[in-house]
Amino acid sequence: MPNTADVLVIGGGIAGLSAAAEIASQARVIVLEGESQIGFHSSGRSATMLHYALGDPLIRALTLASRSFFDSPPDGFSDVPLGRRMAVLIHAREDERTALDALNEDISKFAALQRLDATGVHQLCPLLRPDALYGIADPNGIRLDPHAMLQGFARQLRRSGGELRTDARVAVIGRRSGSWQVTTQAGDKLSAPIVVNAAGAWADAVAKLAGVRPIGLLPKRRTIITFDAPVGTDLELLPFAKTVGDELYFAPESGRLFACPMDEVPSDPCDAQPHEYEMALAVERMQERTTVTVQRIVGRWAGLRSFTADKHPVVGFAPDAEGFFWLAGQGGAGLQTSPAMSRIAAALVLAARWPVPGVAEAELSPARFLRQPA
Ligand SMILES: Cc1cc2nc3c(=O)[nH]c(=O)nc-3n(C[C@H](O)[C@H](O)[C@H](O)COP(=O)(O)OP(=O)(O)OC[C@H]3O[C@@H](n4cnc5c(N)ncnc54)[C@H](O)[C@@H]3O)c2cc1C
Repeated sequence: MPNTADVLVIGGGIAGLSAAAEIASQARVIVLEGESQIGFHSSGRSATMLHYALGDPLIRALTLASRSFFDSPPDGFSDVPLGRRMAVLIHAREDERTALDALNEDISKFAALQRLDATGVHQLCPLLRPDALYGIADPNGIRLDPHAMLQGFARQLRRSGGELRTDARVAVIGRRSGSWQVTTQAGDKLSAPIVVNAAGAWADAVAKLAGVRPIGLLPKRRTIITFDAPVGTDLELLPFAKTVGDELYFAPESGRLFACPMDEVPSDPCDAQPHEYEMALAVERMQERTTVTVQRIVGRWAGLRSFTADKHPVVGFAPDAEGFFWLAGQGGAGLQTSPAMSRIAAALVLAARWPVPGVAEAELSPARFLRQPA
């Protein structure tokens, strides 16, 4: 196998694979993933929702620009749907009503919402306590299938002649004669004029390997638990239900329920594991907001959501290092924004036209961090 390419992508999560698949239609691409399987870190540990309560107008615009991909992926992309409709319910108590009104106004620019009174809230989600008096519902939320997405992008990459190498942890990066020279832990040497840094929580570490100034990425741990639903609960009809503040969300999950206390615990890049405190918090908040008693935690996982200082992703060439391309900082919306983000990454790498109207390049550019002192 040749070890030279036009573009080396470091990271086989959703960011790296989706961008690689787009770029591969016009360039030779090799993806290097340090783990033995794709999506092992954040991309395989998410809550798998597409919804508009996440983030701010920029994240919502990237989500909107991604939506049609999930509804109608390219021919042959996947044998199974990339997701299924799941209503999203944002609920509020009396003291949270103003916050719900504000969120309703923000999201209404992106999705057709229904306002619900207490009866409507409990019809949609009978598990909520009676103090959930107000709600907004988006009947068109999507419960994504990250496995189908990752496999689909990997297949698209290979069909275009691109390559995916797992167990290929990048250990050394240097630039010589207009090309990046990359060495894996196993000693394989590869080179390309362009390196895409899609290393998720490790993106700053990868930049440092290359002698490129880091962007100040902050990985934050988030925890999810699963448990049995009360006997008789019709899981098929339940929505993804979220408090208007960042306190709790829960949804049906493989015949049970999952709940997340929306924790954001700063962490070094690592194989994140759930901690007792956040699991207990999930139980407490679930029991505070719903009539469910969590008898036993059946499953648990944690993952890292990596943020920049302004909580916007970073996509673009580093202004301080020729051919070094950033694709990082997807925070809590990396799955639902991946179709738009990968189109943007490919357009910038291939010097093509900007593909997402309504989103400005400067808002996503790594240059915004270099204006600040190191
Ligand atoms: C609990 C939780 C809930 C979430 N819920 C949602 C949601 O509902 N909707 C949504 O859209 N998003 C959600 N997210 C966010 C989403 O999962 C992330 O934004 C997304 O997965 C980030 O993708 P990534 O490819 O950047 O990172 P990753 O998936 O972590 O991929 C980065 C890859 O780079 C590899 N790597 C690192 N260093 C090297 C190296 N030196 N050499 C080779 N490979 C390397 C790693 O092994 C890793 O596989 C959630 C995240 C969590 C944790």
